[in-house]
Amino acid sequence: MTELASAPAQPSAKTQRISHWIGGRTTAGESGRRGPVYNPATGEETGAVDFATVEEVDAAVQAARAAFPAWRATSLAKRAEIMFRIRELVHARREEVARILTAEHGKVLSDAMGEVTRGLEVIEFACGIPHLLKGGMSEQASTGVDVYSIRQPLGVVAGITPFNFPAMVPMWMWAPALACGNTFVLKPSEKDPSASIWAAELLQEAGVPDGVFNVVHGDKVTVDAILEHPGIAAVSFVGSTPIARYIYETGTKHGKRVQALGGAKNHMVVLPDADIEMAADAAVSAAYGSAGERCMAISQVVAVGDAGDALVEAIRQRLPKIKVGNGLDADVEMGPLVTREHRDKVAGYIDGAREQGATVVADGRETAPDGDGFFLGVSLLDDVTPEMDAYRDEIFGPVLGITRVGTYDEALKLVNDNPYGNGTAIFTRDGGVARQFQFEVEAGMVGINVPIPVPVAYYSFGGWKASLFGDTHIYGPEGINFYTRGKVVTSRWPDPATSKVDLGFPQTR
Ligand code: NAD
Repeated sequence: MTELASAPAQPSAKTQRISHWIGGRTTAGESGRRGPVYNPATGEETGAVDFATVEEVDAAVQAARAAFPAWRATSLAKRAEIMFRIRELVHARREEVARILTAEHGKVLSDAMGEVTRGLEVIEFACGIPHLLKGGMSEQASTGVDVYSIRQPLGVVAGITPFNFPAMVPMWMWAPALACGNTFVLKPSEKDPSASIWAAELLQEAGVPDGVFNVVHGDKVTVDAILEHPGIAAVSFVGSTPIARYIYETGTKHGKRVQALGGAKNHMVVLPDADIEMAADAAVSAAYGSAGERCMAISQVVAVGDAGDALVEAIRQRLPKIKVGNGLDADVEMGPLVTREHRDKVAGYIDGAREQGATVVADGRETAPDGDGFFLGVSLLDDVTPEMDAYRDEIFGPVLGITRVGTYDEALKLVNDNPYGNGTAIFTRDGGVARQFQFEVEAGMVGINVPIPVPVAYYSFGGWKASLFGDTHIYGPEGINFYTRGKVVTSRWPDPATSKVDLGFPQTR
């Protein structure tokens, strides 16, 4: 969970001040409260981000409110044209934003490019908005009566996003929200806020009218102002489970529609008949990519029967080859963690697991590069059991746990007993067992020989249980539903000659 900055960080000659974006222009915050932004690869403080007050959030909402009538009345053809322009600009400048991500988040440049590409896919989906907003129509539902359904935007909607995907997760929200005709207030993570300002400037260049997209930075004060603001109709949230629960409860209490996606503990079940080399490649990629700071990262492998020894050995052999360092270096595969505090917290799980009886096969503290960056090498914990902290908690770092069980049923029970239900995967050559797993497992996204089953943009993304509060998954068709409300029109163009008074309840004839 985010450590919220309490002491104001003052911008110095070396640090860049990152301000809000309200009504189509940079708006310096006046609260005097700021948070530090670091380059995690060097440990250097590179920025100071303004934290918005209640009044500044209100100014953003008022700008969005003022822009709403004209934006919602903009034709579908025109909105689609603007979405296409956004798509072209993001595509052309994807390396520019990827560099911002690497500088503030730490992920390697190729991974940052991958993040932007997955966000682009959601923008591309939103380009089809004229088709997506087509309603249904029943001609002659009653004699001379037609019935049709339409979906209309909600008004001002807000997005609150996590540090681990500073470009993609906001795109999951603003692309469908804007395409549907809403106006938007984004509160990005205060740890890596610059990508949101980059997006704001790009949207303006693409022709999005001023006030349609606004950014306010900040901490709990800013978030609470969003949750309590009567002018905001809906809130999308992605972040950790305790905050997701809080956002859902507080937002709905204030009459808002809320979708709040939370944390995860994604299990990868490996059956004895699986291709062990392929499973090891998948486990290493999915556990340590982006230093494990992905909500769909595999953090727990469940090795069934005699898969265990061979799998642990295959994973262990791959670890020394993983190159950890500054994400801008072309040969580096894993960057630092986002903050020093988070790195230290993640490292703490290694000793904790050892004390609680796990076998530490690899200790990432021994392989972390030197320097002031927030680095931790890759760690592998074997013989992890469900009562250990390393099993129970979402570590959100490059620490992979292995739990050994005897049967498929035990593996399934472990996954289904877990409070989270974001993603899961099974590795096997047996199509029947894979299909059984798909049928029985309690998670929102399932991979069959695929370790990170993030749905493509024309499906929707979301977990079950403590990984999602609210009913609607994000982006794809469910995203369109979330950002619109339905209206059904019953219409008659009568012949005046047939008109008469009838006090009976309307019936079809
Ligand atoms: P976080 O919950 O700490 O922060 C998310 C957002 O909430 C940020 O904008 C932050 O400023 C705000 N926030 C933090 N503390 C708050 C508080 N007390 N009151 C109000 N607002 C608060 O999450 P994070 O550390 O930025 O991101 C990592 C988490 O996000 C992990 O748990 C990860 O699994 C989860 N995540 C989930 C998904 C998903 O799709 N389910 C995707 C990405 C990340």
